[in-house]
Amino acid sequence: MIIPGREVSGPVTERTDVCVIGSGAAGAIVAWEMAEQGHKVVLLEKGGYHPRQDFTQREDQMIPMLFKNCGLQFTIPDAIAVAQGSCVGGSTVVNDAVCFRTPDTVLGWWKDDHKVEGVDPAAMKRHFEKVEPRISVTEVLPFELNRNNLILKDGCEKLGWAGAPNKRNCRDCRQCGLCHLGCYYGTKQSMLETYIADIERVHGESVKIYADAGALELARSGSRVTGVGASVDGGAGTANPLNVKADLFVVCAGTIGSSELLLKSGLDINRRVGRNVAIHPSAALIGDFPEEVRGHEGIPMAYHCYEFSVLKTGKRGFMLESISLPPYQFSLPLPGFGFDHKELMSRYEHYGLMGAMVHDQSVGRARLGGPLGTILEYELAPEDAKILVEGMRNATRLLLSQGATRVITSQKKKTVVHGEEDMYLIRHRGVSALDINLASAHPQGGNAMGGDPKRAVVDSNSRAYGFENLFVCDASVFPTAVGVNPQLTVMALASRLGEHIGESWAKYAGGS
Ligand SMILES: Cc1cc2nc3c(=O)[nH]c(=O)nc-3n(C[C@H](O)[C@H](O)[C@H](O)COP(=O)(O)OP(=O)(O)OC[C@H]3O[C@@H](n4cnc5c(N)ncnc54)[C@H](O)[C@@H]3O)c2cc1C
Ligand code: SF4
Repeated sequence: MIIPGREVSGPVTERTDVCVIGSGAAGAIVAWEMAEQGHKVVLLEKGGYHPRQDFTQREDQMIPMLFKNCGLQFTIPDAIAVAQGSCVGGSTVVNDAVCFRTPDTVLGWWKDDHKVEGVDPAAMKRHFEKVEPRISVTEVLPFELNRNNLILKDGCEKLGWAGAPNKRNCRDCRQCGLCHLGCYYGTKQSMLETYIADIERVHGESVKIYADAGALELARSGSRVTGVGASVDGGAGTANPLNVKADLFVVCAGTIGSSELLLKSGLDINRRVGRNVAIHPSAALIGDFPEEVRGHEGIPMAYHCYEFSVLKTGKRGFMLESISLPPYQFSLPLPGFGFDHKELMSRYEHYGLMGAMVHDQSVGRARLGGPLGTILEYELAPEDAKILVEGMRNATRLLLSQGATRVITSQKKKTVVHGEEDMYLIRHRGVSALDINLASAHPQGGNAMGGDPKRAVVDSNSRAYGFENLFVCDASVFPTAVGVNPQLTVMALASRLGEHIGESWAKYAGGS
């Protein structure tokens, strides 16, 4: 049962078996698994409930409706834009549907360097195989590659770089190009269309989903969490308190959100909460082609180049990913002001767009403060800056090899590369805070999983150190950046936690 904030007319108290906080890639799956095991669930979601019929395909309406802070979230001091969804279904509603399994190399780091048990490729494979059919993961078909995606494919083939069509969680994509605005056609198999819809259909009676309900504070008694206080936004300036008591709590509020809740609740386990955040910082490279590319017509992200990524090299590097963006989002990384910016935008239909995404070190930190409640501190490490420059140079080479007459970078001082002779400009103009507009859609870490309670926030089973019945499960538990688009890793970890709780329910829930 989904209960939007406007339907809550006074203070509410709930008593349930499991309380899940956050309804995104992790929260929706954890709630489903708990309900399947016969437990009653209360799911709290800070964002609103918006069925796909509400998706108007307009940026001015959808970005404030579906994104955290109306799409405005930046790191300090670098002002990197960090996008996160905030609605029932979380970021899966606004994402590009790209699906990668966690690279084996990364799972090896988690096991060897962070002492996480049970994440070897064979163990994780079981969970990928369970989740993938539920969200219809299939490879993009050749006829679905539009010109923008073909530029990357043809460039990889010409330069001899490893590339492949993306796998996506989508069924019969209508190729409208507006994945970031929610899928009006319902073909993107986000949590909204899959696990949440299935919860409604199969477990409508035993799972209560409160939308517009932001968890404010967890209450504890010794080593047990006993309740959570939330505020339900009823619209027009009204708010009602909601208190939930449960045997077991699973925090799935996403990177930043989960750390914020633990910190606000005074549960800064070993003073590690909020640390080791990575974001996959990405630069935009814009190739100007004589003919129209019309990247916005078709699947926004359908091809990737992994020649320089952990998938091929076994080391941190970068991925090149084709992407298209609707006009407002496209305009953000473009340099220039006023007439200059307008002149660049006037070539919108002719641009081929590509992102160079860095597999970064986890150097960021989410901490309480600032007008929005949490500050995300993040500075590009020097090694990552080098990787970023290399990524930008190679993306530029590829675009030029495909006939772009110039490549415009997202550096703030307008940087235009016409050939190898002015490639030096990319390094010269720099990638520090004042030099470049970077973006991230993949914040990860903050509540790292690991075998050492001095370094990690949660153990190998996602249970918070020091607590009997508190779990954290979402992108915040990644011990390192994953290096590929992260949603499938989050989902597999959620499925894994569901299985673990099923095996150990009495141990964790028995105390109350
Ligand atoms: C624009 C965009 C494009 C992306 N594209 C891709 C892609 O193509 N492929 C891919 O693999 N990944 C992609 N991602 C990233 C991917 O969607 C996320 O990594 C993944 O959804 C993270 O899952 P999560 O459960 O950690 O958090 P989320 O899915 O973000 O869910 C967290 C939920 O918790 C809620 N919440 C936060 N605080 C509270 C609170 N206090 N109380 C109650 N609820 C709370 C939030 O509102 C949110 O709905 C994209 C992300 C964005 C924003
Ligand atoms: S491109 Fe496909 S998945 Fe994306 S919003 Fe359009 S129809 Fe949905």
